[in-house]
Amino acid sequence: MSGVAVVTGGTRGIGAAISKALMAEGYKVAAIYHGNDEAASSFQGATGAMTFKCDVADHESCMSTIAAIEKDAGEINVLVNNAGITRDGVLHKMSPENWHTVIETNLTSCFNMCRAIVPAMRDRNYGRIINISSVNGQKGQFGQVNYAAAKAGIIGFTKALAMENAAKGITVNTICPGYIETDMTAAMKQEVLDSIIRQIPMTRMGQPDEIAAVVTFLASQKAGFITGATISANGGQYMS
Ligand code: NDP
Repeated sequence: MSGVAVVTGGTRGIGAAISKALMAEGYKVAAIYHGNDEAASSFQGATGAMTFKCDVADHESCMSTIAAIEKDAGEINVLVNNAGITRDGVLHKMSPENWHTVIETNLTSCFNMCRAIVPAMRDRNYGRIINISSVNGQKGQFGQVNYAAAKAGIIGFTKALAMENAAKGITVNTICPGYIETDMTAAMKQEVLDSIIRQIPMTRMGQPDEIAAVVTFLASQKAGFITGATISANGGQYMS
């Protein structure tokens, strides 16, 4: 089953690797991004993927973007909720804005995109939804109450949505990546990264392609009996 795959945050980092891997599997990919037009245009030029500018934290923006994708490209069979941000800081100094922005961009985005896409998947009795959480949603992380809460929320969201749609041929799964080499981790202090790498049994960070490979499997027909699952890809950093 190919068709259209929507990848949020699909023009950079892990999302770009996911978009490319799904294109290699024969999907028409609609890669959603937020503000980095330069990265989106160079990604589109290099891959031929369709790109759409949309704020995944904004419900109306998601509804209209999904309508545009369906009109331009056709039925959406795969949704990868990958867009995410960090706004780190300890709770006793965190602004309400940094709490809400992280919850809305990482978690409410999953509601927004699924709300726009799931009804048509249910009508067609087929769909694959893959939500990108984080090892820090499983284990917590100092300075990330907002991010850890959002990413843990994705795990519960996935399980409930999987139950609601299993009989309709739609699978919903979570991937929890460990530390992956992207712009997000490049923004971290090297000494913090070094101390994290020391806690990873494989003694290295992961590559975006290593997450994309899990996504393409979960998106495939072969993964038809897997739903509501939480799959870790973290070099052994956290075993749950
Ligand atoms: P990057 O920062 O490299 O890329 C983030 C992507 O998300 C960009 O394409 C960005 O768009 C998009 N995005 C951000 N906010 C919005 C928004 N409001 N609306 C639409 N798109 C948005 O992130 P990574 O590739 O590192 O991370 C991808 C996902 O994986 C995230 O959910 C992250 O939390 C998760 N993750 C990452 C880990 C890591 O070590 N890198 C570890 C565990 C989980 P634009 O280009 O326009 O800015």
